[in-house]
Amino acid sequence: MKIIDKMTVKTKPVCPDCGSDDVLLDAWITWDVIGQRFEVSADFENGFCESCHEDFKRAIWIDADLAPPKTVDSPACRQPSLS
Ligand SMILES: [Zn+2]
Repeated sequence: MKIIDKMTVKTKPVCPDCGSDDVLLDAWITWDVIGQRFEVSADFENGFCESCHEDFKRAIWIDADLAPPKTVDSPACRQPSLS
C-alpha cells in the first residue's frame, strides 16, 4: 500500500457549491513591526466564492494539479458539475 505524503502534494481550496478555485478564505492577520508586513495568524475554512458569489462554511481541498470544473466561468456554475 502506497502512502501519499500530504506535505509534498500541492493542494488548493475550492468552492463546495460550484467547485471553482476562485475563492476567498477568511483569516486573521497581524502586523509584523520588524518585518513591516502582515502575517496570517489564523486561517479558517469558511469564505466566499468569487465565481458563484456564495458564502460557504467549509472549503473543499483538492489536488492543485486538477483542472477547475468546466462551469467555473459559466453563469450557471451553481449546477452540479462534478461527475
Ligand atoms: Zn462557487
